[in-house]
Parts: sequence; C-alpha cells; structure tokens
Amino acid sequence: MPILKIQFLGTSSAVPTKERGLSCTLIHFENAIVFFDSGEGAQRAALAAGIGLNRDCSIFITHMHGDHVVGLLGLLQTMAMHRRERPLMIFGPKGLVEFITLNQKVLGFGLTYNAYAKTVRQGKVYESKVGYRVFANKSNHSRPSYAYLFEETEKPGRFDTRKALALGVPEGPLWSKLQHGRSVKSDRGKTVHPSQVLGKPRKGRRIGISGDTRPSEELVKFFRGCDAIVFDSTYGDDHAQQAKENMHSTSREAATLAKRAGAKLLILTHFSARYRNVSQLVKQAREVFPNTIAASDQMVYDLSAKE
Ligand SMILES: [Zn+2]
Repeated sequence: MPILKIQFLGTSSAVPTKERGLSCTLIHFENAIVFFDSGEGAQRAALAAGIGLNRDCSIFITHMHGDHVVGLLGLLQTMAMHRRERPLMIFGPKGLVEFITLNQKVLGFGLTYNAYAKTVRQGKVYESKVGYRVFANKSNHSRPSYAYLFEETEKPGRFDTRKALALGVPEGPLWSKLQHGRSVKSDRGKTVHPSQVLGKPRKGRRIGISGDTRPSEELVKFFRGCDAIVFDSTYGDDHAQQAKENMHSTSREAATLAKRAGAKLLILTHFSARYRNVSQLVKQAREVFPNTIAASDQMVYDLSAKE
C-alpha cells in the first residue's frame, strides 16, 4: 500500500498556545506532501517535523482568515530560501490570489520556483500525477469557506493469473499489457480484454478536511465513507451556543457528522485556546462516535496499512 499519513502541524483555533500552533494539517502521500491551511508558524512546524520543503507539494486553503492563511507567506519564502525548484500549486477561496500577489509586491520577495495560485470552485480542484486528487465543497463559516476531500486515485482491480492462463495468455509482456488496460491476442488467436482478467477497480482511501465550519447536510454527503475525517472541534458542550454564533462546531457535532457520514475515524482539531486539556471534548464526541481521537501538534496518524 502506498504511504498515507496525516500529520498535524497546528491544532489551535484563532490564537496559538504554548502547546498548539495555528491551523495546518499535512497529508503525506508517498513522497508528496499536501498542506491544508497554513496558519502562522506553519513553516517552523514543518521544519520541526523534518519535512523537506523541496518535495512534490500542493497547498489548499480553506478560508481567508489570518489563522489559516497568514503562515503561507513565511512558508513560500522559506521554500525559496531552501532553493526550492519544483513548481508549487496553491488553491483557495476568492482573495487568495490577491493576498499572495499583493504581499509579494509590498514585501518585495521573489521565489526560486513557479507558484501557481488558483481560486477554488466546488468539485474537483486538482489531480496530481502522483496518484491523488482533491475535491472542494462549500462549508458553512463566517467567510466563504471550503472543506476538502483528499482521495487516492482508484487502483486497478487485482489481476487473476489463473484466468489469464486459462484464456491462453502466457505469463510475460502480455500480462503487463492487460494490467495496464490494453486488450491482447491469446495464443489461440482470440482477443482477451482487461475486464476478463481484472477484478473490480479498488477505491482509493479518502480523507476529509472540514476547515472551520458548522456541521451541514452537504458535508455529511461530501465526507460519506471517508477513512478519516479531520473536523472543526473548537468547542465542547459547554459552549454549544458560542459554536453556533461563531460558525464553528462542538466535538459532539463533529462526532454526529462523522457517524452520519459513515466515516471510519474522526480526528478532532482546531481547539479553542480555553481548553488546555481536550479530554472532555473527546469524551463528549465518543459518546456519539467511539472511534474519535484528538489531534495534537506534530501528531502523525498512519493510514498506510489500512485498505
Ligand atoms: Zn480558524
């Protein structure tokens, strides 16, 4: 199975604490890295995690609030100081492109690589050559915001060697052709199609990233069947009203959504600085959805072995 890990570089909301930096979640897929948000200090957290900044990389911003996007400037500049050469794709809501170009002008910084910033629309946002794609869906916050879905590209079904031999296709280059979706001629002169020897395509693993949001029906659908959902959990039951007013979620609301979406795992993040200890938030969530854990800075969750 290809490497697939989630690493948390910042798990606090609005203000950093001694223990938690501002929003930044990273997905490692094989040798590629995918950033979701880049709060202040993201580049330092990335360096602390030993993440090379010259790797295949794309960045997705959920919304244009300082604690989710201000760190992008430092991250881009640090990449340049490390003499990054590979191009970089950056996606986010309206305002992102302007934010980058204006700051580049005012601060007068150049880059050693090509950075392509694009405004996100609902639907498929990006398909990487290394085998993943990212979809966006509007979320429900005080600014135009998107939740993202990371999806590993579908893998071809298993190759049935016995069937191939029975159909008169000997082991060798013809097997490889069938595995790559091409029809071949058998030693009996008959055409053998890939569908005759390949099982059903296997769905790639999926990770949902909510950004800041109230729970919504749309997000239940968007995150349907995810292997893991990383969800806004700014508050506990004690501040349910505040969650509504500030367009965030409680851990219990995150859990209700994860349960309804049929997710396998819920990872709570984006905790209000008032919670030095988030065990109560986890407890409240587990009452609804037992397979819940809390993110902490530098925590790595490994999905590599899970199919
Ligand atoms: Zn936030």
